[in-house]
Amino acid sequence: MLLDWLSEGGTLTNMGLFNRSKKVEVNRVSRPRPVFTPPQARDERVAACPSCGAELKKVPGAATKCPHCHEVMFVRTDPRDNTRRVLTAEGARDVDDERAKRDGTWEFVKAGRDREVATRKKLGVQFKMSPESVSDNDVQWAILNENAVEAMKHANWLDYMFVQWDIAIELSDRGSTERAASFMVWACYLRMNDPNNMHPQGVDMASVYKPFSPKPEFGQVSGELQSIRRVFDELGVSVDEGLEKCSAKAEREGQSIHLPLPWAQARELMYSWLNDPPT
Ligand SMILES: [Zn+2]
Repeated sequence: MLLDWLSEGGTLTNMGLFNRSKKVEVNRVSRPRPVFTPPQARDERVAACPSCGAELKKVPGAATKCPHCHEVMFVRTDPRDNTRRVLTAEGARDVDDERAKRDGTWEFVKAGRDREVATRKKLGVQFKMSPESVSDNDVQWAILNENAVEAMKHANWLDYMFVQWDIAIELSDRGSTERAASFMVWACYLRMNDPNNMHPQGVDMASVYKPFSPKPEFGQVSGELQSIRRVFDELGVSVDEGLEKCSAKAEREGQSIHLPLPWAQARELMYSWLNDPPT
């Protein structure tokens, strides 16, 4: 699910994990409203990289890496003129900002942007370089790590799980497919334990919330399993080999936070799904 959303251009890493748990206030009107049919966007995508200008074999349909300059190309519909275009990261960000301003999520997107600026500054001091010289990757990576530490500190396992996915996607984007697979399997295992968020102030809420309530059914992790299968295919490994490669991390991390569902059992369940996915 996350991957699908990302390929549509989701700015998961930019938004930061805490934004996701906040619900955007929507206009709740109970009377029936007329069905809104958005006008068809004008397709102005061209088969050329917006970063280096090189000609492409086909017009990108979703975010992909340019085979020439290796920059990611994004596909967005600009609400200002309702045209669909292939854009650079900067161009996509501009469109995303415009959309956020229109759909009422700007406050959250803006908070994410401000955090990036602050992180860039902090890293600049740390690396003894100007903030502009700090790479986007380093900024995203630092934010992901902060998110993971923060979620772990408050035992917010649901948020923690989302960050593990974010890290997997970041790794996959950077071509570290094997490490990405390990994070995906770990996050999927975590999800099979149905993580909950505990109270952030350290108040003992154990009587109210349980941190985990394992539901080793596939319904809720089928999206994750599909992604894992794709990554195994990309690595050219069998399901068995793939799970074996990812096993150590999942088992170690699971034990460290006392996941109730034993890894061996989760692994068996993953194996049976991955080996013979339900149609
Ligand atoms: Zn290019």
